[in-house]
Amino acid sequence: MMRHDVAIVGGGCVGLSVAKHLAERTDLDVAVLEKEHHLASHQSGRNSGVLHPGFNYPPGSKKARFATEGTARMKAYCEEHDIPCEELGVLVVATDDEEEARLDELAEQAEANGVAYELLDSREAIREHEPHAEGQAAFHAPEAASVDSEQYVYALAREARELGVTVYTGYEVSQIEEAAEGYRLDTSNGRFEVPSLVNAAGLHADTLAHQVGVGEEYQVVPFRGEYYEVRPERAHLCETMIYPTPNPELPFLGVHYTRRTDGKVIVGPNAVLAFGREAYDNTDINPRELLETLTYGGFRRLLASPLMLSVAWAELNKSYRKGKFAAASQKLVPDVRAEDLEKSYAGIRAQLVSADGELVKEPLFVEREDAVHVLNAVSPGLTSSLPFGEHIAERLAAKVTV
Ligand SMILES: Cc1cc2nc3c(=O)[nH]c(=O)nc-3n(C[C@H](O)[C@H](O)[C@H](O)COP(=O)(O)OP(=O)(O)OC[C@H]3O[C@@H](n4cnc5c(N)ncnc54)[C@H](O)[C@@H]3O)c2cc1C
Repeated sequence: MMRHDVAIVGGGCVGLSVAKHLAERTDLDVAVLEKEHHLASHQSGRNSGVLHPGFNYPPGSKKARFATEGTARMKAYCEEHDIPCEELGVLVVATDDEEEARLDELAEQAEANGVAYELLDSREAIREHEPHAEGQAAFHAPEAASVDSEQYVYALAREARELGVTVYTGYEVSQIEEAAEGYRLDTSNGRFEVPSLVNAAGLHADTLAHQVGVGEEYQVVPFRGEYYEVRPERAHLCETMIYPTPNPELPFLGVHYTRRTDGKVIVGPNAVLAFGREAYDNTDINPRELLETLTYGGFRRLLASPLMLSVAWAELNKSYRKGKFAAASQKLVPDVRAEDLEKSYAGIRAQLVSADGELVKEPLFVEREDAVHVLNAVSPGLTSSLPFGEHIAERLAAKVTV
């Protein structure tokens, strides 16, 4: 039996940020339990690696606050810890009048959230930033940055360890039960007893929360995002980051171009229902988890919306037909040819869906007397991870150190 004051389940950017901030603020004996042998194996290491400065989110929302603060703090953190991070700026391109009108909304949000921006009103102005991008207008946010998310997660873990946190890798928590004082956690490597708990298990956070009767009105629906890489000899077609104009009805930003800190240019992600929470290949199926999604009332209600159904169909096509993916890519950069795109990695988003069929778009955590369950560390969760983790650490510290 292993004992600590706090167990944090999940060694992604959220769990490790909570660990770092708890260790900085308190004398608590903190443990992180991560099921994989390598950190950043899921969302925190399988993403676009973009720091979103906060123009995409409604003023006053948690997302806006965490993203704006998170971008600035993470740049400083990367500088301090020697993590690759490049402030390349992002170009959000409008290809028709409707999209152009939405750029004004982005500008208003940027203004209210204190994010630097510039509106570009012609193809020529766009091409001064990105010589191969196509559009009739664009929104440019110079503060957006590209970061190596895997190195960031490892830096957080290193720092947490230096502050006295024990990071257990290869410890999968199979069962959480309430004990006389706190919680009993059964793991693949033995039992833990802890007075306090943070559940930051990403794609599996709802399953663990449900075991102790928390968040039963929600379920994670896994959405896979697939990437292609632009062949190195054609990577000059994107110098920074190029995004389509976002649809405010959807939680996903749409297929975009990202120049990574290693110089690779990736295109993606799409957003297609994954047939399992870790079904990274479009031929992978986890029958139990697929059934769990298909029989979830919230998922069926979500699909009853005509918009969601048409988006689901279009995204599915981008997964199985490269031509469709290439067409979405060419809308932003017409010179990109299908043969310039090579299949790359995929990530799976833990999209929380409520029982009434709503996609939960804001970060969500549920507090108990001696626990915090992070049910929705929604994108831009990487960008937000320093202030978000700090906030959760403060909430937990207030409970256990009084
Ligand atoms: C395709 C994609 C693109 C994205 N792009 C961006 C972007 O450009 N910018 C941005 O800011 N955000 C982006 N995001 C969002 C961001 O990656 C996530 O919000 C963030 O990584 C969530 O971190 P996390 O720690 O909650 O989850 P995770 O990184 O998934 O960590 C959870 C950890 O818990 C572990 N775990 C799960 N179950 C158990 C268990 N039972 N026992 C022990 N351990 C367990 C897992 O192994 C995992 O390591 C993207 C996400 C995806 C999927």
